[in-house]
Amino acid sequence: MNAPHPFIEAASPHVMNTYGRLPIAMSHGQGCRVWDVNGKVYLDALGGIAVNTLGHNHPKLVPALQDQISKIIHSCNYYHVPNQEALAKKLVELSGMSNVFFCSTGLEANEAALKLARKYGHDKGIERPEIVVYEKAFHGRSIATLSATGNPKVQAGFGPLVEGFIRVPINNIEALKAATEGNPNVVAVFFEAIQGEGGINPMHLDYLRDLRKLCDERDWLMMIDEVQCGMGRTGKWFAHQWAGIVPDVMPLAKGLGSGVPVGAVVAGPKAAQIFQPGNHGTTFGGNPLAMRAGVETIRIMEEDGLLAHAAAVGAHLKAGLETALAAELAAGTVKEIRGQGLMLGIDLAKPCGVLTQRAADAGLLISVTADSVVRLVPPLILSRAEADEIVARLCPLISALLKEAP
Ligand SMILES: *Cc1c(COP(=O)(O)O)cnc(C)c1O
Repeated sequence: MNAPHPFIEAASPHVMNTYGRLPIAMSHGQGCRVWDVNGKVYLDALGGIAVNTLGHNHPKLVPALQDQISKIIHSCNYYHVPNQEALAKKLVELSGMSNVFFCSTGLEANEAALKLARKYGHDKGIERPEIVVYEKAFHGRSIATLSATGNPKVQAGFGPLVEGFIRVPINNIEALKAATEGNPNVVAVFFEAIQGEGGINPMHLDYLRDLRKLCDERDWLMMIDEVQCGMGRTGKWFAHQWAGIVPDVMPLAKGLGSGVPVGAVVAGPKAAQIFQPGNHGTTFGGNPLAMRAGVETIRIMEEDGLLAHAAAVGAHLKAGLETALAAELAAGTVKEIRGQGLMLGIDLAKPCGVLTQRAADAGLLISVTADSVVRLVPPLILSRAEADEIVARLCPLISALLKEAP
């Protein structure tokens, strides 16, 4: 164990002030537990924001990454990276789509998707392509992806925003039809199957099916941002698969490398041939370390049956939360417990940002999103006993907060 650390400054003098950080610094992890530099142990119900698919220090992942690091970390896209083909083949099989572009982060995957949609339009002779996006959506922090994001807080101070977006409410096909009526410039619809940062808001399966039909009728690309809800988190490889549909474009990142930055855009037949040499690129994307992390993450998920596990433990966790918060649900102070598998949101009737610190004090890592939604996105290896522990630590804090004066 490290020597006790006396005090962690609220801010780091040389690091830009972009996050309201808790005064906690992590030292190491094992499974779903993380230790801070003072030796305090936390149960990790956040998974580095839906990133640490296999938890920490996974006994199969770590030796594979060590092996890769000792061979080659980065080469560059002027040469073939054998595991790019292996990971692309795997993602194509799992998604029923056809080709993959690799990058390093979620926003980069989304940028590539937006470029694909625009070029799809230009190739059809549409000079000013427009893309349908949603209220409360989150797609990243670059200028284009924050313009697609439906959160004024993310956009404030960064205008002029990128144009060419039409914003509609989720789960309302009539509103979408009205907003695009007679508009020949629409080329794509872009959305999260379950909104993450926006408060764990699932798209209804019927809506997804109706939207698939509409995209086919109108020759629009259906682009599903699975950066947070994808990679097994909901109990299927990709959350849209619960609706039995296949998108045309699917950005991935977060959980894909189990902690190593890996992003990808998977494209179906309609979008797979849009980019030609010179249209798009990246220095880091698809590098040997990232690709090994992606290949091994999926291999271990398959070997260990983590999809079925995430579905089962997620249902157990949701049921546990519903039981522990039954009185609050009946009173309406907890409005809803939403989500699927190990992507759950507890929507409170009041802001609850203070819970992140209180939970950490109680040895539990969580996050709060959309001001009043407790977000649980733990590693997919979470056990039933650990799910019970989340309920036991978290629910009393929620009940107590709801009893406090506003
Ligand atoms: C986190 C997230 C992104 C942005 O990913 P970064 O890796 O932070 O750029 C985009 N879309 C969704 C749905 C996300 O959850």
